[in-house]
Amino acid sequence: MHAILPLIQKSTFPAVRRGTLTTLQVNLGYKCNQACLHCHVNAGPARTELMSSETVEVVLDYLRAGPVSTLDITGGAPELNPNFRALVARSRALGVKVIDRCNLTVLEEPGYEDLAEFLALHAVEIVASLPCYLEENVDRQRGAGVFGTSIRALKRLNALGYGSAPGLRLSLVYNPQGPSLPPPQAALEGDYRKHLSERFGIEFDQLLTLANMPIQRFGSTLVSKGQFDGYMDLLRGAHRASNLESVMCRNLISVDWEGYVYDCDFNQMLGLPLKVRQRKNGGRSHLSDLIGRDLTGSAVQVRDHCYGCTAGQGSSCGGALAA
Ligand code: SF4
Ligand code: SF4
Repeated sequence: MHAILPLIQKSTFPAVRRGTLTTLQVNLGYKCNQACLHCHVNAGPARTELMSSETVEVVLDYLRAGPVSTLDITGGAPELNPNFRALVARSRALGVKVIDRCNLTVLEEPGYEDLAEFLALHAVEIVASLPCYLEENVDRQRGAGVFGTSIRALKRLNALGYGSAPGLRLSLVYNPQGPSLPPPQAALEGDYRKHLSERFGIEFDQLLTLANMPIQRFGSTLVSKGQFDGYMDLLRGAHRASNLESVMCRNLISVDWEGYVYDCDFNQMLGLPLKVRQRKNGGRSHLSDLIGRDLTGSAVQVRDHCYGCTAGQGSSCGGALAA
């Protein structure tokens, strides 16, 4: 795999400072039942990194102390972490909104047959990857049979009330197949709605379009194919300063499976730690050191991959910024 950080280190991206923190994004580990081509965390079935129960307790301590109101759980497939259900149930008991970034196929993994019911019981918001409404495109990007499994999972979630009942929000996530920007979010949502409803009777609340980040597996593939510089030029050329106000690092911090903290999931994958004063742990900040600490106004570690967040309509965990 090609190292990406040296390619984006010399950056022209504008400075960003953190606003009010609303969301704690927690990566429960890199184990996943899939191994998608575009995966920016290099997740897969062979990965063994999983957040321990001790670190989950630190996450809960952080939530108890405030100020965030949303816990955004990601991975890998976060549901494969044995501590997933305890974290969800206890966070909900604290009154925290919980988002599960779900790959859908995990709902059919042996031993996880009751996962959909668990998520509905705790009113967990589901953000599910479905990079196209066409079978061929999904299977090419995410593996053979993934589209069919995803459709079955969505039907099951719909049957539980996801996509229609209040409090059971279901969002789908689109990302381009290759080094191009996502199409306009609202128009694509209409296409998804039409196809999924007419062909499968599937309902969902919203479509989120995400740009592919030129890092990790996707970035390395671009380097191998000689497309990295061209994609970076595309992102830089499409930069819109108006998106800077709403890049996700302004309101979110990201925690890795060991409890170390970053400005976002992408910086986590690049090994760029959150910068705060009085850091311990060899320059990295641990969540346990940040409990009760106000991070408003602190500087974000930006590099040229950040153009992936501000290009065109913009891109974040919550979809397009300018939609
Ligand atoms: S399902 Fe998500 S976490 Fe798993 S390999 Fe695919 S992109 Fe990565
Ligand atoms: S990549 Fe991360 S640090 Fe850079 S703008 Fe996007 S959210 Fe902020």
